Amino acid sequence: MTLTKNLSRYFGYDTFKAGQEKIITAAVNGLDVLGIMPTGGGKSLCYQLPAIQMTGITLVISPLISLMKDQVDALEEMGIPATFLNSSLDDASYEKRLEGIRNNHYKLLYIAPERLCAPTFIDLVRQLDISMVAVDEAHCISQWGHDFRPHYREIPGFIANISPRPVVAAYTATATIKVIDEIKELLALQNPVESIIGFDRPNLLYQVIKTGDKLGYVRNTITREFPDQSGIIYCATRKTVESVTDKLKGLGFSAGAYHGGMSPESREKNQQDFINDRINIMVATNAFGMGINKPDVRFIIHYNMPQNMEAYYQEAGRGGRDGEVSHCTILYSPADIVKQKQLIQLNQTSPEREKLLFENLQYLVDYCHTNNCLRKSILQYFGETADYERCGNCGNCLDQSEMVDITEDAQKILSCIYRMKSRFGLNMVISVLRGSKNKKVLELRFDELSTYGIMKDQTAESLREIIMTLVAKGYIMVTADEYPVLKLTPDSGKVLKGGEPVFHKKHLLNIPAGKSKTTGKSKPPVDCDEALFLELKALRKTIAQEKGLPPYVIFHDATLKEMAAYFPRTEADFLAINGVGQARYDHYGEVFIQEITRFAENNPIEIRTRPELETSYTESSPIKKRIDPNDEEKATPDKDSKIPSCDITYDLFLQGQTIAEIAAQRELTENTVLGHLFRCDQDEKPVDWSGFVDQEKEIRIINAIGTVGLEGLKPIKEALPADCSYEDIKIVIHKNGLR
Ligand code: ADP
Ligand code: ZN
Repeated sequence: MTLTKNLSRYFGYDTFKAGQEKIITAAVNGLDVLGIMPTGGGKSLCYQLPAIQMTGITLVISPLISLMKDQVDALEEMGIPATFLNSSLDDASYEKRLEGIRNNHYKLLYIAPERLCAPTFIDLVRQLDISMVAVDEAHCISQWGHDFRPHYREIPGFIANISPRPVVAAYTATATIKVIDEIKELLALQNPVESIIGFDRPNLLYQVIKTGDKLGYVRNTITREFPDQSGIIYCATRKTVESVTDKLKGLGFSAGAYHGGMSPESREKNQQDFINDRINIMVATNAFGMGINKPDVRFIIHYNMPQNMEAYYQEAGRGGRDGEVSHCTILYSPADIVKQKQLIQLNQTSPEREKLLFENLQYLVDYCHTNNCLRKSILQYFGETADYERCGNCGNCLDQSEMVDITEDAQKILSCIYRMKSRFGLNMVISVLRGSKNKKVLELRFDELSTYGIMKDQTAESLREIIMTLVAKGYIMVTADEYPVLKLTPDSGKVLKGGEPVFHKKHLLNIPAGKSKTTGKSKPPVDCDEALFLELKALRKTIAQEKGLPPYVIFHDATLKEMAAYFPRTEADFLAINGVGQARYDHYGEVFIQEITRFAENNPIEIRTRPELETSYTESSPIKKRIDPNDEEKATPDKDSKIPSCDITYDLFLQGQTIAEIAAQRELTENTVLGHLFRCDQDEKPVDWSGFVDQEKEIRIINAIGTVGLEGLKPIKEALPADCSYEDIKIVIHKNGLR
């Protein structure tokens, strides 16, 4: 089997994503590899495909138990034998798995790093033929990263004890040059073949919203843009998580909370509900998300400022793993910055570290206030240069509003802060500028100031926005005293006295989901029949519930959308859908085709033409990738590579297996197997039906058909004794050519 054949047969894809083929080929050829790819870049496939191809078993070291189960479920769905060992298993199932592993039943074994040193595990490993050790989330080995896991340091020693040395493969999404070097060194990779793909996530639409009414924003946006879709709202504290969750629930939204202060059970329950689409909105602290593989998260809202750009990139990165558009929004407020600063000070780290933390925070603050391209700003942080000024697809690039000269407003505000002796916070300054009759304002006799009421024609909201802009531009600072206080800065004078001009973009837009477009590099959205898509989603949910699996393990949204665009009603057409491999066809093809056929019969449908097959990315991408220029991935579309499911069944049948045996082995229903044989029989692959139904039974069935007709199977069944099954009836009808 060639790589492309297996890619198609198991995963249902025709082409590789950027960087995949190079390292997959290398691994299969026995070379160490390093894959640095953004979230959603397709890292898992980079070890799963070689694992199928190689002789022994592949160990996958992964930091998260929840993710292991998910991956193993998905692999099983694709017909790839895989398992995991971790503390979530009871003794009996642990033993059973061990036995399966010893008997070479699996191609992939997922384990947590903590297990590497357990004597029983080392003992097990000695008995196995290990082809590859794949280290997922390899940055966890680095102390510089934010996810340092001490046990990752034991990996090289563990590998050194395996003989012969297996291929070592490392993968991560977040890595600065420093971390990449550390991964190579600490894992002792031997001349690894590398695929380093840029950090850009073209399908993520970044934006920053400055609003005094965060909850109102969330409510309106979700109602208008994301009804019934999955999204995460990140908050800075447990308290905020609780209050936002309560309010959203009170407004009738389907939301759940997740933070470190909850009991593990209720946290786990909410997480499962989110993964399985039982709740749409997860309101969480940054404790949530590591190991969440959910591909169809459509919005990530940061209710409070994240800690730094790296954390932001990672949290926002949980949106749109399936390549479809996802909105990543920061709801900015200056109070958040103050809180973050207080936190840094509270932690009392070394002065150098504190300086670094402040610098990191400042980068994010600047990000929130820049009028330049947000995508470019993110890429710059990771040391990548974009060769465009504006990406055309972020909040700032899509913002049509004019730059306004606000120098005069700025002078009024700065002068007011000066007169209030730089001792008050945002709300008090706004109250004075708007001439409020507030008791405190009057008590402090601020109504006697020359700046009292000089901006009374402006709304509080608009003043807040201007003040925040001045903070961002460094003309005002917010100090973290008991409460946030606005103070002048050394630069204030330039505006106050020197008349340095200040510009501001008024009313930054919130981009409605429908208006967002994707940049050249990202996949164009499939224009599909919305009604059918929703029906297929519902069908997927029912199946997922029956099987106790997350819906996306059955099929991804993108796959359902293709179905709703091309209406596949034959095996070949169904297999041609992206994301449908042989096993998934065998498991679900029939029911989905039924649903599509039923829909097509009852609705006027318009079948879209499939665009020409392309590689999933273009070389002319606007991003200058930090990528080896020789890294050419040529996709070889290989449509003939899928062996029709019928033929596999037919081969087994010719080998003498019964329908029940074939069904058990292939994990199909007997009904499906029978369907395969009927089709083969019509298709010049003759089936000898004589041994299936005994003659006496056959006569009874024919008689029953004579009495009740051939309208449906049910009346025939009801006219017969219980020992005649539906299968028997179908066989008799087929064999005698009655229909
Ligand atoms: P990562 O681990 O890098 O975040 P995943 O391995 O979860 O990414 O893959 C992201 C998505 O891309 C998944 O939905 C996966 O099925 C899909 N994918 C992977 N390889 C391909 C490919 N060659 N063609 C199309 N889709 C792919
Ligand atoms: Zn942009």
